[in-house]
Amino acid sequence: QAKNRGRDRWDTVDTGLRKAASERLDLESQLRTAISDGELELHFQPIVGLTGRRVIGREALVRWRHPQKGLMPPITFLPIAEESGLIVELGAWVLRAAVRAAAASLDPGYVAVNVSPNQMIRPGFSAQVETVLAESGLPAGQLVLELTESVMLSAAPAARLEIDRLHRLGVRIVVDDFGTGFSALSYLRDLPVSGIKVDRSFTAGLGDDPQCDRIVEALIGLGHGLGIDVIVEGVETERQSDLLVGIGVQHAQGYLFGKPSPQYELQNA
Ligand code: C2E
Ligand code: MG
Ligand code: MG
Ligand code: MG
Repeated sequence: QAKNRGRDRWDTVDTGLRKAASERLDLESQLRTAISDGELELHFQPIVGLTGRRVIGREALVRWRHPQKGLMPPITFLPIAEESGLIVELGAWVLRAAVRAAAASLDPGYVAVNVSPNQMIRPGFSAQVETVLAESGLPAGQLVLELTESVMLSAAPAARLEIDRLHRLGVRIVVDDFGTGFSALSYLRDLPVSGIKVDRSFTAGLGDDPQCDRIVEALIGLGHGLGIDVIVEGVETERQSDLLVGIGVQHAQGYLFGKPSPQYELQNA
């Protein structure tokens, strides 16, 4: 009897796994056509100067308006895009759409685009960026690419070459989710990095967790010491904002200043 109960349970687990696997396959094939069917959209979140709260840039964040499931956040489909290789096409769509939106606006702020490691390691990425800029007329100085530490750390000479080419075009590179990866910081010396974005997991504990305060201070000291821009992510409260001003942070992003919105310009209070 116990044996049968055990088998039932495994049957249930098995059915559950099958269901999850088939849902994932469905999502993958739907994502394949989502791009050409116009189901992807970009939302833009302001990046502000902390003291005047002036918008200095906007980060483009992708969403999928799924016909049945509604608006889906990137966490629900980016992993599938990464594993299936669709990220290359998706990333190209995001880049073009973000650069077009910025070019159509009269606002002089920059647009920041997230770039996946899989996009970067493909030769020709910098050429793609150059083409998109030329088509849209957006000055290269108004484009920021957000790369994660894993890209910066990968010894892949091809990726380094692309980063150097982008830098020479005048495109700025910032390191996203800074502080969460391996702290091998040598790339900050070797690569043309113009800024770091301190991950919001550190911001959350500001003022409550002395460890978080010290880490944020250290990351800011590091950035400023290297003469690069420091942007703190995930600022949700006035208290966090005040603390950051107190430790010399100039630029920030977070719900306090504006949530991601489908309108390029209309997000700041
Ligand atoms: P990220 O690049 O670190 O983007 C910031 C994320 O934090 C966004 O989530 C944003 O909505 C959220 N956020 C901003 N301010 C706050 C705040 O004050 N509080 C909280 N709790 N959250 C805040 P989102 O849009 O869900 O994006 C998640 C991640 O997905 C991004 O993290 C980025 O790594 C990735 N991603 C988004 N769009 C793209 C894309 O077009 N291409 C690639 N490769 N990755 C993307
Ligand atoms: Mg980002
Ligand atoms: Mg980030
Ligand atoms: Mg982050």
